[in-house]
Parts: sequence; structure tokens; C-alpha cells
Amino acid sequence: MTNAEPNPDSQATPDAAFAGVISLDGPSGTGKSTVARRLAINLGARYLDTGAMYRAATVAALRSGVDLADRVAITRIVEAAKIEISTDPDRVSIRLDGESVDEEIRSAETTAAVSAVSAVPAVRAILVAAQRELISDGGIVVEGRDIGSVVWPTARPKVYLTAGAEARARRRAGELGADVSAVAEDIARRDNLDSSRAASPLVRPADAIELDTTDLDIDQVVARLADLAASAGG
Ligand code: C5P
Repeated sequence: MTNAEPNPDSQATPDAAFAGVISLDGPSGTGKSTVARRLAINLGARYLDTGAMYRAATVAALRSGVDLADRVAITRIVEAAKIEISTDPDRVSIRLDGESVDEEIRSAETTAAVSAVSAVPAVRAILVAAQRELISDGGIVVEGRDIGSVVWPTARPKVYLTAGAEARARRRAGELGADVSAVAEDIARRDNLDSSRAASPLVRPADAIELDTTDLDIDQVVARLADLAASAGG
């Protein structure tokens, strides 16, 4: 299975100042991606967006035309897909079967289908194995839904980001240039699916540090996380 391999363009930073693994979990619109990437840059660490991997798997499923309720067929498609993700925070990119899908993974169609694909346990097993391989060299900030709970439970700091529903919808709508109420509905639907699925649902691990970003700007969140990383060592 060569499902996810480091992108050859990726510039690993073996001599990164931060050698550990930082996990950032939480629902959509908490600012995870932006702050995780910036934190990685500040620390001289690598960056892994695990949501992008589930989105690329979803693009593979959609392209194949498979019924999204057919878990066996989805698994077969994802097993055969070659997903390559860069861990360079300055050059975020993802490829599916050799082709860049940076834009397609963010389409409304992909976003609408990703929770169904990511709820398939066999899909999760494939992507979690690939994520662990990418993380194992350390010096990395990893964001997702189940990083501190399942993928890398020894991550330090292990952070769970939250934000009020309205703030999350406003941020996401700003990024997408979309209507706030439509985005609020989409976020609520995905949160519900991600939190209620049987396989590795979105949960706040008991030992996670919760950071509410509702009233913080990006720089403030990154500064808090950098402090936590400094006290965790690395
Ligand atoms: O983070 P992002 O919004 O891009 O993630 C897209 C979707 O991928 C989530 O709604 C969730 O269904 C899935 N996901 C997941 N586990 C992760 C990361 C993302 O199930 N670690």
C-alpha cells in the first residue's frame, strides 16, 4: 500500500528546532489550519493537514462515481489511490495519482462528501497508517480531528481548539467568500457527522489543553501555542 508518501517536493527539516509532535484537533472554523501552519513555520517544524488527506480520498471516490453509501467500494478506491502530501508549511500541496488536487479538495462537492468518506473505518485505517509514517520522524505540527486521541496520543502539547459557532461560521465564510448562514449550516452538519460517527469520532481527549479562540486573533493563538510548545520541550 503506497497510499500516502511524502511529496518529493517536500522539504523535510530534520534539524528543526522543535523535534516533537504537536497535535491540534477541533471542529471546522476554529482556525486550526492557519494557526497550525504558522506555528510550524515559527518553530522550523513540518506541518501535516490530515483533513486534506481525507479530502483527497473523497476526490478519488467522487471521480470514480462510486455510491458514497457503498463502504466496500469506497475502500477499494482509496486503497488504490496514491495520495502524496507535502509536509513543508511554506509549500502546502497535495497530489492524487500524480496530479495536484489543491483546489479540488476545497470544492463544495468535496466538502459535502468528505464526512461520509472519512466515516469509513477502513479508509481511516489506511490514512492513519500513512499519517503515522509521516509523523514518525518528529518535528511536526499535525492538525485534524483524532490526532491526540488516536493517531498520535503522545503528542505534546496536545491541543483541542474550540470557538463559538458564530465566530467559526464568520471565519469560514470569510475564507470562502460565502454566505455566513449557509456556511453555519454546513459546519453544523459536518460537526454533527464528525462527532457522531462510530470510527474515531471528533472528541476532546481528556488530557488535551483546550484553547477557545473565539476572542483571539491568529497571532494571539499562535503565540499561546508557541508558549505551550516551549513548555513541552521538544
Ligand atoms: O479539516 P478539514 O475541514 O479540511 O477536514 C475535512 C473533513 O475530514 C472533516 O470534516 C472530517 O470529516 C475529516 N477528518 C477526519 N479526521 C481528521 C481530519 C479530517 O475525519 N483527522
